[in-house]
Amino acid sequence: MKLSSFTHDGRASYGLVTEAGIVDLGARFPETTLRDFLAAGDLDRARALADAPADFALDAVKFAPVIPNPDKIICVGLNYHAHVQETGRTVTEKPVLFARFSGSQIGHGAPLVKPLESDEFDYEGELAVIIGREGRRIPEAEALSYVAGYACYNDGSIRDWQRHTAQFLPGKSFAGTGAFGPWMVTADEIPDPATLRLVTRLNGKVVQDTTTDLLITPIPALIAYISTILPLLPGDVIVSGTPGGVGARRNPPLWLKEGDVSEVEISGIGVLSNPVTAERA
Ligand code: ZN
Repeated sequence: MKLSSFTHDGRASYGLVTEAGIVDLGARFPETTLRDFLAAGDLDRARALADAPADFALDAVKFAPVIPNPDKIICVGLNYHAHVQETGRTVTEKPVLFARFSGSQIGHGAPLVKPLESDEFDYEGELAVIIGREGRRIPEAEALSYVAGYACYNDGSIRDWQRHTAQFLPGKSFAGTGAFGPWMVTADEIPDPATLRLVTRLNGKVVQDTTTDLLITPIPALIAYISTILPLLPGDVIVSGTPGGVGARRNPPLWLKEGDVSEVEISGIGVLSNPVTAERA
């Protein structure tokens, strides 16, 4: 089952994505956001509508970030060996975490925005994990039962602002840089998130290609580690790290520029596609 957030004629809602389009769940259920719908815990209400006629064609809506308003977005740095190597860093014993703010997110099809302050705008294709129920100090063995679903994420990064201090956050939360979508696929369809293939394309050319079994800290261990710090809540997003092939580490560097199209495809999930635009003064 695919669930997404969208706007139609300026009204924000969420829905079930089917072959025919979107079944508007926000119009049918009391919860006004996908985050609240996940928190209510009864996804069978959506499943029961699998054969319902679509309310909107996919091209009639604007996709929002899958979860526009998560309590937290926890990103994982340096979580594939090929990426650790290309950055010249070393693998740490514990996962490298940083935060992204929800206001930096965009949906499928919306422009990734190169800010005025930098020309070092880079793509990062990643597997996003969406939490389905609250948990604290979740044991690894139970961790996947806390997952509502999975989605594509482009952790667009402003590299000079990421690196000009010891903290990643400034380069990871510029407005319009975190693409999340088009939808999440529910966890029942992906029993093991370590079996996926992730490919990032820039203008149709493959720039990153990995399988998710290569994550240094796998998804269950990330959930256990992060939920030790504070409770994970329904709708929380874990962005699990990018593989090798980022633009910053190419010679010459490959920066996103206006007119480009950046895509992230994950097997069994779909394709997240975003054009790139440059902010104007
Ligand atoms: Zn990243």
